[in-house]
Amino acid sequence: MENENVSRNFIEMIIDKDIEEGHCKTVCTRFPPEPNGYLHIGHAKSILLNYGLAKEYNGVFHMRFDDTNPTKEKEEFVDSIKEDIKWLGADWKEHLYYASDYFDQMYEAAVTLIKKGKAYVSTLSAEGIRETRGTLTEPGREDPDRERPIEESLQMFADMKDGKYEDGAAVLRAKIDMWSPNINMRDPVIYRVAHMTHHNTGDKWCIYPMYDFAHPIEDAIEGITHSICTLEFEDHRPLYDWVVREVGFENPPKQIEFAKLYLTNVITGKRYIKKLVEDGIVDGWDDPRLVTIAALRRRGYTPESIKKFVELCGVSKANSSVDYAMLEYCIREDLKLSCKRMMAILDPIKLIIDNYEEGKTEYLEVPNNLENESLGTRQVPFSRELYIEREDFMEEPPKKYFRLFPGNEVRLMNAYFVRCTDFKKDADGNITEIHCTYDPASKGGNSPDGRKVKGTIHWVNAATAVDAEVRLYENIVDEEKGKLNEDGSLNLNPNSLVIMKGAKLEPELGKGKAPDRFQFVRNGFFCVDSKDSTTEHPVFNRIVSLKSSFKIEKK
Ligand code: ATP
Ligand code: MG
Repeated sequence: MENENVSRNFIEMIIDKDIEEGHCKTVCTRFPPEPNGYLHIGHAKSILLNYGLAKEYNGVFHMRFDDTNPTKEKEEFVDSIKEDIKWLGADWKEHLYYASDYFDQMYEAAVTLIKKGKAYVSTLSAEGIRETRGTLTEPGREDPDRERPIEESLQMFADMKDGKYEDGAAVLRAKIDMWSPNINMRDPVIYRVAHMTHHNTGDKWCIYPMYDFAHPIEDAIEGITHSICTLEFEDHRPLYDWVVREVGFENPPKQIEFAKLYLTNVITGKRYIKKLVEDGIVDGWDDPRLVTIAALRRRGYTPESIKKFVELCGVSKANSSVDYAMLEYCIREDLKLSCKRMMAILDPIKLIIDNYEEGKTEYLEVPNNLENESLGTRQVPFSRELYIEREDFMEEPPKKYFRLFPGNEVRLMNAYFVRCTDFKKDADGNITEIHCTYDPASKGGNSPDGRKVKGTIHWVNAATAVDAEVRLYENIVDEEKGKLNEDGSLNLNPNSLVIMKGAKLEPELGKGKAPDRFQFVRNGFFCVDSKDSTTEHPVFNRIVSLKSSFKIEKK
C-alpha cells in the first residue's frame, strides 16, 4: 500500500500510530475559535482539517467557543462563526460547547494545583511578574511569593474569586521552573482578576483563567484525543502537557501543531481585518474584498471550492504563503461546468441595426454552457436595438483589432453577422451610438457563403435589458509593492473596487437571487450580491475573471 502512505499527511500518520498502539479508540477533534471576530480562510483550513479527520476516522468533531477572555468577545461573532462553519459543511451535531461552561471545573483544577504545591498567589504587578520571568538569554528569578504557604494561597485565591482584589492586584501562578530554557514554563500566570461581565456567565466570575491553562483543560474535559493547533503554540506544548498531567486527567489529549495558511495579496489575521472594518475602509466583515468566510460567501465562492483549495494546500510543518490565484483557480474549476453562460454588457453602448425590421423581436436559441449540454438552452430576445461593450468598437482601430470599426464585419454571438456603417458622437467627442446592417442569411452566427469574420462580440437586446450594478474587485493590497507601508499601515490598492452602475443584462439575469452564480461571456463569473441586490436594483459581484496564469499540474 505504498501509495496510501505517500498521500497521508503527518497528522494522519500520528493518529494511525496512536490507534495502532492502542492509545486512542475514538478520534475526537475540535475547532476552538475565540469569538472576537469573523472567521477567515485560514480558519477554514483548521475547520476542514479537524472535521475531515474526525470523519475519516469515524470519530467525533466538537465545535467549541474559546470564550475565556470577556473583553473582546461578542454575541455577533458567536452567531457568524456558527453560520460560517455550517456553510462550510462541518457538522458538529450535538457537540457544541463553550469554554466558559467549564469555569467551575477550571477553578477546581486551580485549587487542586494549589493544594499540590503546584500553584501560588502572587501580588507582584504585571511588570514585576514580567521581570521575574527573564528573557531568552537570561534565566528567570523567584517571585517573592513563590514559597507562600499552601493554606494562604488557597485563602487568597478564594478571596480573588470573591471580589476582594482589584484588577491586577493578585494573580495565580503555576509553580513550575524559573530556570527552564522555555519561558512559557517559568511560572506562568494561570488566573487573573478581571471585574468584567462575560457574554455567557454574566457577573458570576471576576477571575478568569489564562489561555494556556484553560485550553488543555477544555480539551481534556471533552475527551479530545488530538488537539490540533498552529505552530506558534509549539513552545507552549510542554505547558499544555504539564497542565493535563498535574491536574490529573486520565486520558490526556495530544497537541499537534501545523503551519498556518497565509495567502498573498489579501489580508488574513483578525487584527488587520478588524481595523479595515472599524476604519470604514471596507463595507463590514463580509466586504467581498476580504477573505473572511462571510466575504468569500458573499463574493460567490462555494464551500466546494474552498475545500478543494484547502486540499491542494496540504498540511505542513513549515510556514509559507499560497498564491491567491490558487483560490481563484479552485472556484473557476468549480463553476466552469455548473454555471450558465449569459450575456451581460458592463459598459454599454447602443448598436442599431438599420436594416432590421422596426418593432420586431425574435427569439434565438442559445446553449447555456458549451461544455455542459445538460444545462440545456434558452431563448434570448433579439431586435433592432442592442447594447454592446464600449470597448468592442473603435473609430480608428489599431492593427489586429478584429471587433467593430467602420466598414468591418463581425459576428454577434449566436445571432447574425453585422457590418458597421456609421456612428454618432456627442459634443465632447464621446461615441453615443453605432449603426450597422445585418445579413439575415447568417442567422445563428453561421457564415452564409464561407465568408469569414474574425471577431465575435456579445450583446444584449436593448428593449428587454435589465439594468444592474456590477462590482469588479481586485486584491485589496498590492503584494508586489509590499503589504505594509513604512509606517506600518496597509498598502491598499485604490482599484480594489470598481462599480459599473449602468450595466445591461439579458432578462433572465434579472430573476437571479443570491447566491445564484453565472458566467458572463468574456467578463468572468458573477454572483448576485446577498446584501444589496433587489429585484428593482440587481447587484452582481465578480467572483473571478475567466483567465489566469495559474496552472495546476494534472496527474
Ligand atoms: P488570527 O491570528 O487570524 O487572529 P487566531 O488564531 O487568533 O486567528 P482563533 O479564533 O484563536 O484565531 O483560532 C481558532 C483556530 O483557528 C485555532 O486553532 C487557530 O490555530 C486556527 N487558525 C487561525 N488562523 C489560522 C490560519 N491562518 N491557518 C490555519 N489555522 C488557523
Ligand atoms: Mg487568537
